[in-house]
Order: sequence, then structure tokens, then C-alpha cells
Amino acid sequence: MTPRICVVGAGPAGLSLARVLHRHGHPVTVLERDASRDARPPGGALDLHEGLGQRALDKAGLLPEFRALARLEGQAMRILDTDGTVLRDWRPGPDERANPEIDRGQLRDLLLGPLDVQWGRAVTEVVPDGGRDGVLVRTEDGRQEAFDLVVGADGAWSRVRPAVSPATPRYTGVTFVETSLDDIDDRHPDLARLVGDGAVAVYGVNRAIVAQRNSGGHVKVYAQFRTPLPERPDDHLDAEAVRADLLPLFDGWAAPVLDLLRRGTVFARRPLHVLPVAHTWAHVPGVTLLGDAAHLMPPLGAGANLALLEGAELAESLTSTSTLAEVDEAVRAFENSMWSRAERWATMTMAGLERLVSADPSEALAVFDAVQSS
Ligand SMILES: Cc1cc2nc3c(=O)[nH]c(=O)nc-3n(C[C@H](O)[C@H](O)[C@H](O)COP(=O)(O)OP(=O)(O)OC[C@H]3O[C@@H](n4cnc5c(N)ncnc54)[C@H](O)[C@@H]3O)c2cc1C
Repeated sequence: MTPRICVVGAGPAGLSLARVLHRHGHPVTVLERDASRDARPPGGALDLHEGLGQRALDKAGLLPEFRALARLEGQAMRILDTDGTVLRDWRPGPDERANPEIDRGQLRDLLLGPLDVQWGRAVTEVVPDGGRDGVLVRTEDGRQEAFDLVVGADGAWSRVRPAVSPATPRYTGVTFVETSLDDIDDRHPDLARLVGDGAVAVYGVNRAIVAQRNSGGHVKVYAQFRTPLPERPDDHLDAEAVRADLLPLFDGWAAPVLDLLRRGTVFARRPLHVLPVAHTWAHVPGVTLLGDAAHLMPPLGAGANLALLEGAELAESLTSTSTLAEVDEAVRAFENSMWSRAERWATMTMAGLERLVSADPSEALAVFDAVQSS
């Protein structure tokens, strides 16, 4: 018997799972809410760790293609004081492969490869006890299908999660306002020098500005600060209004650092939410979660890496199953190993967020130094 597997969500977690299953010749249905692969901008670049995201790509047989696309120089990191003084300037050696950067769009296309994703199919509900047919998946288009295993890889606001857990994300108290600069080398050479080949971060009291280079001269800039929960996330803030609100928060900071915000064009607001650090659930046969749906944590370089590895590991453990009992056993084992690894990373990233957006900016330097020496 070949278990009927449905993956909800075509982000890093879902695509990694589907791609490794596909590599092993296992059929899989992927349902994705977005209307097409290019329906929305893919977001900032990701650094893929050797022991996490890169391991997953190896399991998918995609490591050579990743290495051809990844930017080793993107690992560079510079830290400035708010007056513009350079406090740290770390550049990777020529063979430094621990955390190279890849654009999210490139990673998505790499994983998509031959996969047949059903775009524009938002899942509204998963019913674990769907009778003899199996687990029922209902979609916004009014359709309903049955599967032996449904994997919720549908991110922070998962519609699969309620089938196994009542947990919902809570606001961390930190909001990012994101903007970007295009063709930075030609249009803003002064800011290109400031950002360098990788990222630049400036830490002040309870706030920070971080700019990160993506490929093709595109730079993402994040203003990070503590604030009550904004009304809602918003991808299309009015640029003038947001600059008028934002710049006073960074009053007195060096002019080139503020120019990262002044010259940004499109602004989006991203309040950071998290799930409980040790989020687990009583096992439900036929349904599981991975990635942000299972363990949403602060965006400090781990979430996509864990999502990729979990997808690949779950896929590998499913390929050898031929009965529903074996599927269930594989999923239980996967959940236990995911929970313990995710708890470690959630603990670290929660502590990291507290120290990076902190009343004492020297904490951020200490975090950087600890990471460099580990
Ligand atoms: C600003 C920022 C920077 C970050 N930087 C890094 C980094 O450098 N390194 C790192 O490892 N992580 C980083 N992260 C975290 C990373 O983005 C996430 O952890 C990762 O994307 C999680 O992958 P996922 O597949 O679980 O979920 P997602 O990427 O959220 O993908 C979920 C998918 O499910 C789809 N979906 C949602 N609801 C439904 C539904 N009802 N039906 C069908 N489909 C649905 C969505 O459209 C989406 O395609 C960052 C996050 C942020 C916000």
C-alpha cells in the first residue's frame, strides 16, 4: 500500500518534504494557498546552515545546485554603533561554507523543480476522524479530499494546526518594519559600501536597523523596535507616513544608517509572533505539523533551516512505510525528534531576540561574539 500523503503549504517545509518524497518515487499532493509561484514577493535571503538546511538539500539531491547559487560572501557581517563607528567587521574566508546565503525565490524554484503543486488551493479545515476514507481536507474552493496523512506545513497561522493543537501564536512585543533598495550598487553606491557583501546591523536602546544584501543588488532593510501590537501586519504601508513615524524612533543615529530607511520605497509591517517554546501535542493519527506551523520562533536564522530539515527527515522516514501502522509509527518518531530539536532552537532564538532588541545594546555585540566563537 502506498500511503496517500497531502502536504498543506509550499514553503520551505512543505516543498522539502514533497521534493524528498518525489526523489524516492513517492506520490504526494501539495496544496498551496498562493495563486501561483510568483503571487507575492518571496522575502529576504536565507542563510542555510551546514547541519540543517544544507543537510536537507543534500537529502533532496540538490546540494550541487544550491552551491552553484549560494553566495559565500553573503555571510559577511558588520556591526555599527548608532554614530556609525564600525564595531565588528567579519568577512568569511574563501572556503567558509557554514552559512551561505540564497534568495528565497531561488530556493523555492530549486525545490519546486518537477513538483506538481496545486496553486490557489487554500485549506480551510482538516478533519482527522473522517471515517473509513481517512483524514479529510477541505479547501476554500468547496472541495473535499481524503488522505492517509496530512502534513500541515502552512506556516504561522496554520489551518491544519487546530486539528492537533489549540495553541495560537502570541506577539513578542517586537515589530519589524521592512523596506528595500533596488540596484544598490548603481543607485546608492554609498549605501552599498555601508552594507558590504552581506549584512550590516546597528543596535540601539530597544531598537535596531539591519540591512541584508540579496542577489542582483537588492537589499532588504529591517527597522526593529519594541511597540504594542500594531493593528495588523500590512504589506503596503504609505511610505511617507511610515517614514514620518519611523525616523523619530532613530533620532540622532548616523545619517548613512538613516538613509537606509529614507531611501526605501515599499514598506511592510511585520509584528513578530511566536508559538510556546516547547509546543507539543497529543499525537493524532493521520495529521502532523512541521516548520513554522509547529514551532514559530523569532526570525534569527533558524526557522527555514529547521523547516527544510524536518521536511526532508519526515519524507525519508515515510518512504519505507507500507502500512498505516508503519506510517503512524514513523510520524510519532518524527514528532519526538522535531519537538526536542525545535525546543532547543526556540529557547535560543527567544533569548536572542531579548538580547538583540534590548535596553542594553552591548548585549547584541555579546551575541555576535558568542556566535563567532562557537
Ligand atoms: C524577516 C524574516 C527573516 C527571516 N530570516 C530567516 C533566515 O535567515 N534563516 C532562517 O532559517 N529563517 C528565517 N526566517 C524564518 C523563516 O522565514 C520561516 O521559519 C520559514 O519560512 C518557515 O517555513 P514554513 O514552510 O514552515 O512556512 P512558510 O514559509 O510560512 O510557508 C507556508 C506556506 O503555506 C502556505 N499556506 C498558508 N496557509 C495556507 C492554507 N490555509 N492552505 C494552503 N497553503 C497555505 C503559505 O502561502 C506558504 O507558502 C525569517 C523570517 C522572517 C519573518
